[in-house]
Amino acid sequence: MRLRCVECGSEWPGAEVRYRCGCGGTLDVVLDAIPGLNRYLFEPRRGSRELLDRSGVWRYRELLPAIDPRHVVTAPEGGTNLYRHPAVSAWVGAEVALKHEGENPTGSLKDRGMTVGVSTARALGLGAVACASSGNASASMASYAARAGMQAYVFVPAGLPMSSGVAQALAYGARVLEVEGSPDDLPKLVESVCLEDGIYLLDAGNPFRIEGQKSIVFELLDDLGWQVPDWIVAPGGHLGHVSALAKGLAELRAANLVPRTGRLAVVQAAGANPLYTAWRSSQDPWPMRAETVASAIRVGDPVNGRKALRGLRATNGVVEEVTDAEILEAKVAVDRAGIGADSASCAALAGARRLVAAGTIRPNQQVVVVLTGHLLKDLDVVGRLQGEAPGGNLPVRSAATPSAVREGMRAAPR
Ligand SMILES: *Cc1c(COP(=O)(O)O)cnc(C)c1O
Ligand SMILES: [Zn+2]
Repeated sequence: MRLRCVECGSEWPGAEVRYRCGCGGTLDVVLDAIPGLNRYLFEPRRGSRELLDRSGVWRYRELLPAIDPRHVVTAPEGGTNLYRHPAVSAWVGAEVALKHEGENPTGSLKDRGMTVGVSTARALGLGAVACASSGNASASMASYAARAGMQAYVFVPAGLPMSSGVAQALAYGARVLEVEGSPDDLPKLVESVCLEDGIYLLDAGNPFRIEGQKSIVFELLDDLGWQVPDWIVAPGGHLGHVSALAKGLAELRAANLVPRTGRLAVVQAAGANPLYTAWRSSQDPWPMRAETVASAIRVGDPVNGRKALRGLRATNGVVEEVTDAEILEAKVAVDRAGIGADSASCAALAGARRLVAAGTIRPNQQVVVVLTGHLLKDLDVVGRLQGEAPGGNLPVRSAATPSAVREGMRAAPR
């Protein structure tokens, strides 16, 4: 296993604390030659009692960085459902399967990355982990650190209202630092403190987190009997997740587990669309001010832009954008089906609908949409929906008599 710069190709041994190349490029984990594998290796593990086999990440360990099982920190995670629902498919305009990563232990797909990230910290002999994020990454990291008996440090800019991600991280025992000064300078500060103090940095650019995230496609293909879908549609913020989907598909093909990769569609919110803009203009992503209802993808300066563009090219992929109004409409569709998801997930669903309408996705194709977060991750948006979106569901006020109550119960749903 090695680390390789995505920009200039410089390489280092894998078992080394390094987050970036001297040229500024992010790093890839390059696995040793991936052996020809056989799907029947994985299937019996689903029924096993061993945590490593039950984990939807470590079940596929032959396709992950080799880590001594004694160092592995697992909940276990993964094992998420693949839903099909006629009303959701009707809303999209094509039959879609929904891989619900919000069903992970802390409520988002971040757990797949963090089980590998925190295990890597342990394997490297480090006793603490850190990241600069106010969202699901911090919550997930804090949970895995607590399970491992390690201290977690979360860095956020001072002066902002506390996010639910930070609240969740505090609950899991993370030390949260609200740092004054320019938020733009925070990542550099955190990286230098981590390097000097022997703390493992698990921010969005960490290449081992991406290794864990790859397991979404491994488990998805396993769910589908190793039939590759024509499209996988996923939301993009820092773009680690979609880079991981592309890397996972490429590695499955290299291991001869699938004959082709299928196509990847990345969906961004129109108010946080640096990849979409870059894709359209054939340039590298350019930082922007990000604003969208979907907080998990409210990212104006994605750290994994280069990896995502590479993954899009390798899978003949596309990038789509959706408005907040479309995100909220998708949210009504998926929540009302009883499935529910956070608004970043709903961006992907809305993007699938746009791609169907544009004829890019044809109605007879096999489509999987990755739902990335749990409905409970952004209850503030659920609250807003009730007031704003068409189809928002409101409580009915009733007098305390049987007839009034019955009248209220009959009230037409909005
Ligand atoms: C982090 C996250 C994303 C986006 O993943 P990136 O790797 O940042 O692109 C999407 N949805 C949810 C719920 C997330 O937590
Ligand atoms: Zn480099």
